[in-house]
Amino acid sequence: MAKCVMVLYPDPVNGYPPRYARDTVPAINGYPDGNTVPTPSAIDFTPGALLGCVSGALGLRKFFEDGGHELVVTSDKDGPDSEFERELPDADLVISQPFWPAYLTQERIAKARNLKLALTAGIGSDHVDLDAAKQHGVTVAEVTYSNSISVAEHTVMQILALVRNFIPSHRWAVEGGWNIADCVERAYDLEGMDVGLIAAGRIGRAVLRRLAPFDVKLHYTDTRRLPAEVEKQLDVTFHPDVESLVKSVDIVSIHSPLYEATRQMFNEKLLSTMRRGSYIVNTARGEETVPEAIAAALHSGQLAGYAGDVWYPQPPPPDHPWRTMPNNAMTPHVSGTTLSAQARYAAGTREILECFFAGKPIRDEYLIVAGGKLAGTGALSYQSSAAL
Ligand code: NAD
Repeated sequence: MAKCVMVLYPDPVNGYPPRYARDTVPAINGYPDGNTVPTPSAIDFTPGALLGCVSGALGLRKFFEDGGHELVVTSDKDGPDSEFERELPDADLVISQPFWPAYLTQERIAKARNLKLALTAGIGSDHVDLDAAKQHGVTVAEVTYSNSISVAEHTVMQILALVRNFIPSHRWAVEGGWNIADCVERAYDLEGMDVGLIAAGRIGRAVLRRLAPFDVKLHYTDTRRLPAEVEKQLDVTFHPDVESLVKSVDIVSIHSPLYEATRQMFNEKLLSTMRRGSYIVNTARGEETVPEAIAAALHSGQLAGYAGDVWYPQPPPPDHPWRTMPNNAMTPHVSGTTLSAQARYAAGTREILECFFAGKPIRDEYLIVAGGKLAGTGALSYQSSAAL
């Protein structure tokens, strides 16, 4: 019998289950790279159900019960008195989503003497101290590709929301106004603009493909350059580093993983080299920026807008500068947890658990840390190319 602690976001304030807006989600069978969507032996939920909150339990309550395992589901995750911290010392597995991350720090991993698997239901395992996981022999896995397209769609939406000044215009409409001049004094067309991506991995490439029909000029930088034929197909210009990219574009979209090389990358110095009135959309990780520097650049007009869904910490405090900075189109961390995405990553979580309990190999593309070192997708994402 194993003990699993699952840390999920709280239920909706109006109760669970919600009244769903639609009855189904489209079935997606494969990913653009040819890999299949998750293949668990069965699922115990209806795709389209809200699974990522405590009552949803990723549709896995029956699976744990049937296996005779102990399952603790909580949203109480921060601080020494939290339920997560209390339940951790004898846990064999921790499951958490990046939207409501259970921060598995070095101290917490050291306390969790039974911990064998830290499973991210979603993508991005930087909430786990990966070095500590290596040292303590904890396997870290995530459901690669499960919500990449979900994030790409959100990114395109937020680019358009900023450039076209959507949110202030919407506000004028719902508040009874018809103030055309106020709406359009900051509104532009995306067409013709230079758009640059930091990283062209699964999400980045999906964003490039979705932006191309807007007749923009596409740029990117990545520690692993795309093959020449892919660059040609995407009609995208490569830049050797972030510095050269940001000064050549009007819009920057961040899609790199968070680790030493990208932490606080968008600081005051880098922001000052951007074109005046640039936009940044960050759906990667909040800590890839310096929040106060972003807010200052919006106040000064160096940035025309900032959007994204990732913050630090999560949830952020009520006085986080991004809640009140001008010209922002921020959302909470939601892009990768649409009901459509949840169906995939809940199924992927079950696929990984089935492998784990049966002692079978977990798909290589799901692995971040295994056998005391970076593995699978982790080895390609969480180290600079120099270390490869
Ligand atoms: P991926 O592994 O497919 O791609 C990551 C890319 O980043 C790779 O091409 C890699 O070479 C590149 N890279 C690594 N270090 C770099 C650096 N220093 N500079 C430039 N490029 C670098 O990952 P993905 O699925 O595209 O996801 C990317 C990130 O997006 C995740 O790590 C996660 O933090 C974030 N994410 C956010 C959400 C959300 O809900 N907002 C959901 C999923 C993923």
